[in-house]
Amino acid sequence: MPGNEIYVGFDLGGSFLKASSFGLDGELQERCSMDTQRCLRPEDYLDLFKDATKSLSSNKHLKGIGVAVAGVLDLDAGKVIDSPNLPALCGVPLLGMLEDSFSPIPPQMMNDANAAALGEFFAGAGVGCESMFILTLGTGVGGGFVQNGEIWGGASGMAGEIGHMAIESNGKPCTCGSRGCLEAYFSGWALERDARNHTERYPDSAIGLIDKISPASLSELADSGNLEARTIWENGGYALGIGIANIMNLLNPERIVLVGGLVNAKEHFLPTARMAWEERSFEQSSSSSKVVLGKLGEWAGVRGAIQPLLQEAR
Ligand SMILES: [Zn+2]
Repeated sequence: MPGNEIYVGFDLGGSFLKASSFGLDGELQERCSMDTQRCLRPEDYLDLFKDATKSLSSNKHLKGIGVAVAGVLDLDAGKVIDSPNLPALCGVPLLGMLEDSFSPIPPQMMNDANAAALGEFFAGAGVGCESMFILTLGTGVGGGFVQNGEIWGGASGMAGEIGHMAIESNGKPCTCGSRGCLEAYFSGWALERDARNHTERYPDSAIGLIDKISPASLSELADSGNLEARTIWENGGYALGIGIANIMNLLNPERIVLVGGLVNAKEHFLPTARMAWEERSFEQSSSSSKVVLGKLGEWAGVRGAIQPLLQEAR
């Protein structure tokens, strides 16, 4: 029965495996989220994939599975090459393991930023436009470019790594080994580093007295009007704006979509970001590239992960 057919999309990150079922029309049916913190072996992750699929597909006919993974992937080999948040899966042929578990249904796998890009493009903030760049603003910063419904993958699927675009020639060190990357100025870890540095210099300051430094606690402090916390967000926002200006100048996409946990603090970083992108991009670019917030929140990736399956089925 066609009405009973579902696709299950997954988004595997360092803290949660999120999963949703969708009909052939792409409409959301059910969703669930599972804690991955206790997964130590690849088999532990596989068990979660199986449990989630079972709970979402009872009395339904499972037609396909799409998986978004937070990491650098070798799509030809179906392998996770590197993922700081999923160390147990580094070097693991995850796609082959999923194929064995879900045979005869062949699962598909993609990078999580690309999945979020497709999700927003087809079912969120990108609906109705031809070109869209997504910026995922979380612990790290990712990106993806969609043109006419297709991800621009580049020669090896590595395109869109906007977090590691240099915005300072000899700037702060980054987790990737380079220096001056956007992510080293505006990301969850960079904001925490700036707050910790402030704490070392001024242990009795309001930031120094925060119990657990995180983007959320730093945002709360900024909400209360604390100038030091606001300055950290504003400086980070200016760096983000330079990155956005570079996207506008290079690609001039119709929309630039911001998603991820840091977006919750938008009132603290967007004004300086806007200042930077207006200063540093051509007026014709910034007036035609609209910067907007994502609409699917943390569920963009699960929707994007099944998009290629929906297109194949139609
Ligand atoms: Zn970097």
